[in-house]
Amino acid sequence: MIPRTDSLCQTPSWNEAIANAFTSPEELIDYLELDKALLPAARAAALQFGLRVPREYVDCMEKGNPQDPLLLQVLPLGAELELQLGFSTDPVGDLAAAPAKGVLHKYHGRALLVTTGACAVNCRYCFRRHFPYQESSAYLDRWQSALDYLRSDPSIHEVILSGGDPLMIADSRLAELFQALEAIPHLMRLRIHTRMPVIVPQRITGDFLEELGRMRFKTVVVIHCNHAHELTSAVCLALRRLQESGVMLLNQSVLLKGVNDDVETQIQLSEALFDVQVTPYYLHLLDPVQGAAHFDVGREEAQVLYQKLLQRLPGYLVPKLVYEKPGEASKTSLTL
Ligand SMILES: *Cc1c(COP(=O)(O)O)cnc(C)c1O
Ligand code: SF4
Repeated sequence: MIPRTDSLCQTPSWNEAIANAFTSPEELIDYLELDKALLPAARAAALQFGLRVPREYVDCMEKGNPQDPLLLQVLPLGAELELQLGFSTDPVGDLAAAPAKGVLHKYHGRALLVTTGACAVNCRYCFRRHFPYQESSAYLDRWQSALDYLRSDPSIHEVILSGGDPLMIADSRLAELFQALEAIPHLMRLRIHTRMPVIVPQRITGDFLEELGRMRFKTVVVIHCNHAHELTSAVCLALRRLQESGVMLLNQSVLLKGVNDDVETQIQLSEALFDVQVTPYYLHLLDPVQGAAHFDVGREEAQVLYQKLLQRLPGYLVPKLVYEKPGEASKTSLTL
């Protein structure tokens, strides 16, 4: 028998995977054999913040299951349109904290670069759904004002590439940025916050790995994985390749109602991360962003869940339970 090689031959490039993503609620609902009654609300909510989800990620979902934990993260729902008191469009005070185009400098020693507003996926709970990236991305002037700012403050030792998703930027442009950052003597560490290894694992290209390996920086990649079902074999392979390039891997996730707000799901996630040598770093409470209130897990409930995790897992597999309070000098811990 001729072995099936189509999965190998047909793996699209990362650009193709993004270009082929589902953007139509109707197509996604059809493909997953879901109840068509979901469609009108999905369409209405998608007008505010578009549906976007690559096919590989959709293929990890269970067909016919409207409660699938991966589906819930990406399917627009009518609940998003209900205005909720206490939920805003800039919940973490980002707009007040930008000292230069695309730079957020809220914490001592580290500055965050909003490299792009683009993402491979639109996560419904994301504060990005309201962020005015057109005015705020550091790439607008080819990083110049962001780089000037980093140069001007010798207390900054770590630069965090964030977004959107910094790995939406082509390797050649990233290489330019890396070189400019390397030339700033007081920078010691590079951190990349990205969901791409989880959503489009083929983004971890040979060129990108080579560039990471070449740099003088010690590099930390913080992935964003909310559920063990997201760690497919392709994702694990991408993570292994990052490790082999000397990258330290951490995970941050968001505590989301119906997705990962139970003890067993959290344990499975931590254990699956351990299997691929990724350390759980942060478990974020939801930012109170307008349109995402239906994902909210209350503080007390989160703390109860957290106590159970502490009882069940070794300390190094328990992420820190945190949230972001505008004006604070660090993330605020709920773990005490
Ligand atoms: C979360 C965040 C960081 C990183 O905080 P760590 O505790 O170092 O992970 C840095 N800058 C900004 C603006 C942030 O929101
Ligand atoms: S990948 Fe991250 S930044 Fe992009 S939509 Fe999802 S949560 Fe938001």
